[in-house]
Amino acid sequence: MSVRVGFGFDTHRLVEGRELWLGGVRLEHHQGALGHSDADVLLHAICDALLGAVALGDIGHHFPDTDAQWKGADSKVLLARVRELLAARGWRVVNVDSTLLLERPRIKPHIPAMVAAIAPLLGVEADAVSIKATTNELLGYVGREEGVSAYAVALVERA
Ligand code: MG
Repeated sequence: MSVRVGFGFDTHRLVEGRELWLGGVRLEHHQGALGHSDADVLLHAICDALLGAVALGDIGHHFPDTDAQWKGADSKVLLARVRELLAARGWRVVNVDSTLLLERPRIKPHIPAMVAAIAPLLGVEADAVSIKATTNELLGYVGREEGVSAYAVALVERA
Protein backbone atom coordinates (compact mmCIF):
# COMPACT_ATOMS: atom_id res chain seq x y z
CA MET A 1 0.00 0.00 0.00
CA SER A 2 1.34 3.40 -0.97
CA VAL A 3 0.67 6.06 1.67
CA ARG A 4 1.70 9.66 2.26
CA VAL A 5 1.49 11.94 5.28
CA GLY A 6 1.03 15.70 5.21
CA PHE A 7 1.08 18.51 7.73
CA GLY A 8 -0.86 21.78 7.79
CA PHE A 9 -0.84 24.90 9.94
CA ASP A 10 -2.87 28.10 9.80
CA THR A 11 -3.51 31.24 11.83
CA HIS A 12 -6.10 33.97 11.50
CA ARG A 13 -6.62 37.15 13.43
CA LEU A 14 -9.69 37.41 15.67
CA VAL A 15 -11.65 40.64 15.31
CA GLU A 16 -15.04 42.09 16.22
CA GLY A 17 -17.71 42.13 13.53
CA ARG A 18 -16.83 38.86 11.80
CA GLU A 19 -18.55 35.47 11.98
CA LEU A 20 -16.54 32.72 13.64
CA TRP A 21 -16.35 29.62 11.44
CA LEU A 22 -14.35 26.64 12.69
CA GLY A 23 -14.40 23.16 11.26
CA GLY A 24 -17.22 24.07 8.88
CA VAL A 25 -19.47 25.17 11.75
CA ARG A 26 -20.51 28.70 12.75
CA LEU A 27 -19.94 29.35 16.44
CA GLU A 28 -21.64 32.02 18.50
CA HIS A 29 -18.91 34.38 19.67
CA HIS A 30 -18.27 38.11 19.93
CA GLN A 31 -15.27 37.78 17.63
CA GLY A 32 -14.69 36.14 14.27
CA ALA A 33 -11.63 35.26 12.22
CA LEU A 34 -10.41 37.80 9.69
CA GLY A 35 -9.64 36.58 6.19
CA HIS A 36 -10.43 36.68 2.49
CA SER A 37 -12.63 33.57 2.71
CA ASP A 38 -14.71 32.64 5.75
CA ALA A 39 -11.30 32.30 7.47
CA ASP A 40 -12.01 28.80 8.82
CA VAL A 41 -8.58 28.12 10.22
CA LEU A 42 -9.22 24.44 10.94
CA LEU A 43 -10.41 23.65 7.41
CA HIS A 44 -7.46 25.61 6.02
CA ALA A 45 -4.99 23.58 8.09
CA ILE A 46 -6.66 20.36 6.89
CA CYS A 47 -6.49 21.56 3.27
CA ASP A 48 -2.78 22.23 3.67
CA ALA A 49 -2.18 18.84 5.30
CA LEU A 50 -3.88 17.10 2.37
CA LEU A 51 -2.07 19.19 -0.24
CA GLY A 52 1.19 18.62 1.62
CA ALA A 53 0.72 14.86 1.60
CA VAL A 54 0.87 14.83 -2.18
CA ALA A 55 3.27 17.79 -2.54
CA LEU A 56 0.69 19.94 -4.32
CA GLY A 57 1.70 23.23 -2.76
CA ASP A 58 -0.56 25.06 -0.34
CA ILE A 59 -4.00 26.57 -0.05
CA GLY A 60 -2.75 30.04 -1.01
CA HIS A 61 -1.46 28.63 -4.29
CA HIS A 62 -4.75 26.97 -5.25
CA PHE A 63 -7.11 29.62 -3.83
CA PRO A 64 -5.22 32.95 -3.88
CA ASP A 65 -6.61 35.79 -1.76
CA THR A 66 -6.09 38.05 -4.77
CA ASP A 67 -8.84 36.11 -6.59
CA ALA A 68 -12.30 37.64 -6.11
CA GLN A 69 -13.77 34.18 -6.71
CA TRP A 70 -12.70 33.18 -3.17
CA LYS A 71 -13.84 36.34 -1.38
CA GLY A 72 -16.10 35.25 1.45
CA ALA A 73 -15.78 31.66 0.24
CA ASP A 74 -17.16 28.80 2.31
CA SER A 75 -14.01 26.85 3.21
CA LYS A 76 -16.00 23.61 2.92
CA VAL A 77 -16.00 24.28 -0.81
CA LEU A 78 -12.20 24.68 -0.72
CA LEU A 79 -11.81 21.41 1.18
CA ALA A 80 -14.03 19.60 -1.31
CA ARG A 81 -11.89 21.02 -4.14
CA VAL A 82 -8.73 19.81 -2.44
CA ARG A 83 -10.17 16.32 -2.17
CA GLU A 84 -10.95 16.48 -5.91
CA LEU A 85 -7.37 17.54 -6.67
CA LEU A 86 -6.11 14.50 -4.76
CA ALA A 87 -8.66 12.16 -6.33
CA ALA A 88 -7.66 13.33 -9.81
CA ARG A 89 -4.12 12.18 -9.01
CA GLY A 90 -5.26 8.83 -7.62
CA TRP A 91 -5.18 9.56 -3.88
CA ARG A 92 -7.84 9.14 -1.24
CA VAL A 93 -7.95 10.26 2.38
CA VAL A 94 -7.26 7.71 5.12
CA ASN A 95 -7.59 9.92 8.19
CA VAL A 96 -7.06 13.41 9.56
CA ASP A 97 -5.97 14.49 13.02
CA SER A 98 -6.09 18.12 14.08
CA THR A 99 -5.79 20.53 16.98
CA LEU A 100 -7.36 23.96 17.36
CA LEU A 101 -5.58 26.50 19.51
CA LEU A 102 -7.75 29.23 21.04
CA GLU A 103 -8.88 30.53 24.41
CA ARG A 104 -12.61 30.98 23.72
CA PRO A 105 -15.23 29.84 22.95
CA ARG A 106 -15.18 26.32 24.30
CA ILE A 107 -14.81 23.94 21.35
CA LYS A 108 -15.61 20.53 22.80
CA PRO A 109 -19.43 20.78 22.49
CA HIS A 110 -19.06 21.61 18.77
CA ILE A 111 -16.68 18.83 17.78
CA PRO A 112 -19.38 16.31 16.74
CA ALA A 113 -20.90 18.89 14.36
CA MET A 114 -17.46 19.71 12.94
CA VAL A 115 -16.71 16.03 12.36
CA ALA A 116 -20.12 15.60 10.72
CA ALA A 117 -19.34 18.51 8.39
CA ILE A 118 -15.82 17.40 7.48
CA ALA A 119 -16.03 13.59 7.13
CA PRO A 120 -18.36 13.57 4.07
CA LEU A 121 -16.23 16.21 2.36
CA LEU A 122 -13.24 13.91 2.71
CA GLY A 123 -15.16 10.74 1.85
CA VAL A 124 -14.29 9.07 5.14
CA GLU A 125 -16.18 7.77 8.16
CA ALA A 126 -16.52 10.01 11.21
CA ASP A 127 -13.96 7.94 13.13
CA ALA A 128 -11.31 8.97 10.59
CA VAL A 129 -11.63 12.65 11.53
CA SER A 130 -10.10 13.72 14.82
CA ILE A 131 -10.51 17.26 16.15
CA LYS A 132 -8.92 18.35 19.39
CA ALA A 133 -8.76 21.77 21.00
CA THR A 134 -6.59 23.39 23.59
CA THR A 135 -6.13 26.84 25.05
CA ASN A 136 -2.71 28.45 25.02
CA GLU A 137 -2.75 28.98 28.80
CA LEU A 138 -3.33 32.71 28.19
CA LEU A 139 0.08 33.02 26.52
CA GLY A 140 0.93 34.95 23.37
CA TYR A 141 -1.49 36.04 20.63
CA VAL A 142 -3.80 33.13 21.30
CA GLY A 143 -3.83 33.89 25.01
CA ARG A 144 -4.69 37.52 24.32
CA GLU A 145 -7.52 36.34 22.02
CA GLU A 146 -5.95 38.18 19.10
CA GLY A 147 -5.82 35.07 16.95
CA VAL A 148 -6.71 31.44 16.45
CA SER A 149 -4.42 28.72 15.09
CA ALA A 150 -4.90 25.17 13.90
CA TYR A 151 -2.61 22.23 13.19
CA ALA A 152 -3.50 19.17 11.14
CA VAL A 153 -1.94 16.02 9.81
CA ALA A 154 -3.46 13.86 7.10
CA LEU A 155 -2.73 10.40 5.77
CA VAL A 156 -3.64 9.56 2.17
CA GLU A 157 -3.35 6.31 0.21
CA ARG A 158 -3.40 5.26 -3.42
CA ALA A 159 -7.04 4.85 -4.43
MG1 MG B 1 -6.25 30.53 6.32
